[in-house]
Amino acid sequence: MTFQIQSATMVQLKQQISLEDNPQEILFSLFKQFDDRAAIVTSGQLSGMVQIHLAAENNLPFRVCTIDTLRLFPETYTFFETVEKRYGIKIEHIQPEPAEVKKMVNEHGEFLFFDSREKQRYCCEIRKVRPMQRLLDTLDVWITGTRRDQSESRQNFQKVEIISSMDNPILKVSPLIYWTEEEVWRFVRENDVPVNPLFEPDSHGQLYESIGCKICTTRIRPGEPKRAGRWRWQNAVDTEENNKECGLHYSI
Ligand code: SF4
Repeated sequence: MTFQIQSATMVQLKQQISLEDNPQEILFSLFKQFDDRAAIVTSGQLSGMVQIHLAAENNLPFRVCTIDTLRLFPETYTFFETVEKRYGIKIEHIQPEPAEVKKMVNEHGEFLFFDSREKQRYCCEIRKVRPMQRLLDTLDVWITGTRRDQSESRQNFQKVEIISSMDNPILKVSPLIYWTEEEVWRFVRENDVPVNPLFEPDSHGQLYESIGCKICTTRIRPGEPKRAGRWRWQNAVDTEENNKECGLHYSI
């Protein structure tokens, strides 16, 4: 059954979920109430994988979506196939509009993001933010894997927020908001949750902490901020962490 929740109901739900500490119960309750109007939206990072594992244990159908910019790592596409087999699910790939990509590339070139921050944001707008907005228009509940320990700029993120998409209120829920990276890794190891092989360190100890589009993401050195590997060519001119957000969590 699909339906849109009313604002008053949403405020009640926000209060209930804010008080609930158990991520698995939160997921159970959301998918039971909202069916396919709720979705885990993940790029295949660790928190998203923990949520898929917990949702699968609930024995309820659940929806998983990824924003597929068409520029992800080959390893990530292969990894999603592994996850689908492991949990018996189909991950929906939400992709940019071909006409919008064509126009952007014709006007600015394939690698516009190297030219300036504005063009990088334009590319993220076409390939990530607009597809995300189209996805949100199909949802009442957006379940994210964001955690406060992921960056300075995420310290104030809330477990539950009411946001708007095309004038419709949506609940944005981050069940693992207070988990630490250590807790996530412990859960992953103890439960044999699949991990994108890009998260393994190379022979120099460098690893990907945050995985996005292939060309815009590099490994980080020990001690670097987690999102330092995003658009690394911008690090020399701007060190503000907010500028390492791609727009998904800021513009909506
Ligand atoms: S991360 Fe890079 S390639 Fe991907 S959408 Fe943003 S600018 Fe474009």
